[in-house]
Amino acid sequence: MINRLLHYLDASPVNFLAVKQLSAALDAAGFKRLDASQPLTTAVADGGKFYVTKNDSSLYAFRLGRKPLSDVGFRLLCAHCDSPTFRIKPNAEMLSDGGLVRLNTEVYGGPIMSTWFDRPLTLAGRVVVRGADAFSPRTRLFHIQRPLLQISSLAIHFNRAVNDGVKLSRQKDVLPLLGLISSELERGNMLLNLIVDELSKEEPVRREDILDFDLYLADAVPACTFGARNEFLSSGRLDDLSMCFAGLEALLGSDVADATQVLAIFDNEETGSQTKQGAGSPFLASLLRRIVGVQGGSEEDFWRAVEHAFMISADNAHAFHPNYAEKYDPTTHPVLGGGPVIKFNAAQKYASDAVSAAVFASLCEEAGVPYQRFVNHSDVAGGSTLGNILAASLPLRGVDMGAGILAMHSCRETGSVADYEYCVRAFMQFFKHLTNQR
Ligand code: ZN
Repeated sequence: MINRLLHYLDASPVNFLAVKQLSAALDAAGFKRLDASQPLTTAVADGGKFYVTKNDSSLYAFRLGRKPLSDVGFRLLCAHCDSPTFRIKPNAEMLSDGGLVRLNTEVYGGPIMSTWFDRPLTLAGRVVVRGADAFSPRTRLFHIQRPLLQISSLAIHFNRAVNDGVKLSRQKDVLPLLGLISSELERGNMLLNLIVDELSKEEPVRREDILDFDLYLADAVPACTFGARNEFLSSGRLDDLSMCFAGLEALLGSDVADATQVLAIFDNEETGSQTKQGAGSPFLASLLRRIVGVQGGSEEDFWRAVEHAFMISADNAHAFHPNYAEKYDPTTHPVLGGGPVIKFNAAQKYASDAVSAAVFASLCEEAGVPYQRFVNHSDVAGGSTLGNILAASLPLRGVDMGAGILAMHSCRETGSVADYEYCVRAFMQFFKHLTNQR
């Protein structure tokens, strides 16, 4: 099971590729791909299973239940496919003495910037090429699968205080090296040449047809396990691709139940979710509303479905880091390997309350999976996640949880193999539940 996750992590350096991988797995499992601009009637009338994507960077998969949504609601599992990184700016090439080319970058989300230094990096994302007309450009996914870039540190001899902590500039310090130009012709063209060459491996493309791109830095080193018993995970983007893939595994491992099963993978959680493909978008609510309509239901039936529903917002949690014990709550600090973590926050940054936590805890017990609870140290602000943002368009009963990790938002986070597997089992229990737990 863990090897499938490692493969998914390696094939998903950014949101677009993470969604492409999920789509391919759903295709292979017989889920029908729908276009939100077309009537949903046929697919939904047939019952069965289907999925929809938005912006190629968020994905919504459904397996319709035996009973109408209005009577038993839906079981929604959500996670996010974006992770902190660096976006390549327009006119990115910066030429320095000796023909050294660096790329100009802009921070995406909240990376621990120092962890991106002195390691092999690459580029991934999407390139937009000319299509049939101005409103229909074509999108080509992009991933150079080799070490391509590196952000190099300043030598310690120029800053003896480097190990006492360094303030990093988001503009000056995080510009990766791309190459050395060998002729004047290459000046300002190195990145574009690379893009043309890479895309042309699959299908020829002319450089004048390349209109724009959404490209990001990504770790070029494969994900792996480590530890005396290989009990740990080392990878970028465990937050939150591990929960995306656990959700997929659970959905594909489940069968039809009374309630409709929904897997929602949102984009842009790391920048606040307020985009058309983020959890703040009405897109998921509108899809559910349309499904109820196609099933012959009314507005009344849709809101009944929402009242019956339950949501698991699955986003990685902070496991106890023994080097920094003082940062954690004195009595409640989940540990690596201790099972899925239910998150609570008095300021309601998490959707969990005692009732929804009890539902999730019961699912874990039924699945034979241990579980833990997380609260912030009261002097630490902590983070936020999907559940409450989604509540603005869908007032769902639900729980915020996730697998505990260390070094969240590092270029290489640390997770637990056992926790990942526990999450998959808990999610399967969630999807297979026949009765509505109210
Ligand atoms: Zn997250």
